[in-house]
Amino acid sequence: IDKNPNEAEFHQAVEEVFESILPVLKANNLYVDEKLFERICEPERIISFRVCWTDDQGKVQINKGYRIQMNSALGPYKGGLRFHPSVNQSILKFLAFEQVFKNALTGLMLGAGKGGADFNPKGKSDGEVMRFCQSWMMEAYRHIGHFTDVPAGDIGVGEREIGYLFGTYKKIQNEFQGVLTGKGKDWGGSFLRPEATGYGLVHFAHFMLTEIDENLNDKVCLVSGAGNVSQFAIEKLLHEGAKVVAFSDSTGFIHDPEGMTEEKLDYLKTVKNGQRKSISAFADKYDSAKFTAVGDKNLWSIPADCAFPCATQNELDESDAKLLKQNGLILLAEGANMPCTPKAINYLQKTNVLYGPGKASNAGGVAVSGLEMTQNRMGRYWTKSDLEKQLRTIMKDIHEKCLETIIKHDLQKQDYLNAANIGAFEKIARAMHAQGTV
Ligand code: NDP
Repeated sequence: IDKNPNEAEFHQAVEEVFESILPVLKANNLYVDEKLFERICEPERIISFRVCWTDDQGKVQINKGYRIQMNSALGPYKGGLRFHPSVNQSILKFLAFEQVFKNALTGLMLGAGKGGADFNPKGKSDGEVMRFCQSWMMEAYRHIGHFTDVPAGDIGVGEREIGYLFGTYKKIQNEFQGVLTGKGKDWGGSFLRPEATGYGLVHFAHFMLTEIDENLNDKVCLVSGAGNVSQFAIEKLLHEGAKVVAFSDSTGFIHDPEGMTEEKLDYLKTVKNGQRKSISAFADKYDSAKFTAVGDKNLWSIPADCAFPCATQNELDESDAKLLKQNGLILLAEGANMPCTPKAINYLQKTNVLYGPGKASNAGGVAVSGLEMTQNRMGRYWTKSDLEKQLRTIMKDIHEKCLETIIKHDLQKQDYLNAANIGAFEKIARAMHAQGTV
């Protein structure tokens, strides 16, 4: 904490993992002697830079840009870019740290990184977003590359932003290479990348429920957020026969007791991706849907069997967890990174709610990004159904890896939190040990 002051989110992420792996550290002198955990906590490189661009009024604007290259023990740095006014070094370090463990769990050759800027794409014209992305890449291009560091999307960075970033990189380097993932399908992107995080999350929830002889059919579900992860989590939940009765965005939440349908989901995608508006427009169209603006009440007050926080960090606290449990919650799986506060997680685990930590449950996105990298290197592309099979297999393998770690380390039954942290740590620590102290 003394070495990294004012980095509350980073401390939170590190503390959670440290608590999980403490017994493993105590049992293995090598990890302690080689300071493997301390080394994992220190980014290999932090790049922070000025991003200047011109708005539509001709005024110069300045933002802070970042790339955190956290760990390259298992492969090139890999992780998303976040464009949001709240972005700072602490948030990106926590995300990069989480990414180290998540990427290890995928079983693919992926190191970890994260980046972005405190730029708010909301309300900006396409031209402004393009000029911002060009300026961001004018600096970042020197630090990334398909064997070095491969950024992707995150909050505020979707296919539009990836396109502008990719175009700028290609122009500067005069080379068409897979330096970013989440690209459009006509220019090096992979089938299923947009769907991968949300679909993977629902696969993981399915495998968790199978362990208690349950499934998602007819389960009442809450999905926070209305962005990339949320939309495709809702889509997959519908495929599984679940009833999604609520979702949210930064303006408030929608409660629709009749549940989502494919048609309603299409409209939600139009509102968020096409019109880039508040979800309140959804309630204007559907009588069964009620919009509640941000205030004292949030969507976690709605009774449900399963909850999928898919918006942002620390969006679900202990009081939300208590209310959810009181209302009959059996499973919570994280689509977002660190959406539950430590007290909320503790409460859920204590009260036997099945808890899927984001490092495991939302790893589907980066996994398909890894597959996009492989396809770019081969210059050949798999079909959608190939990728669907591969994504399901990867999520199943992550789930099995958690179960194996539970047995190996004598953890509580269904303690996915400690299993994910320990299983990933051991893999990274082994690789770092093998590669020597660098
Ligand atoms: P998007 O930008 O597509 O969507 C984010 C959604 O969350 C939007 O509906 C947004 O509301 C809402 N939101 C964001 N910040 C806040 C806030 N402070 N309070 C309330 N609502 C908020 O992002 P993604 O769907 O890509 O990412 C969502 C989460 O999933 C993040 O935690 C991300 O790190 C994580 N994640 C994403 C992956 C991916 O593949 N995209 C992979 C793994 C994890 P509004 O529309 O009003 O802005």
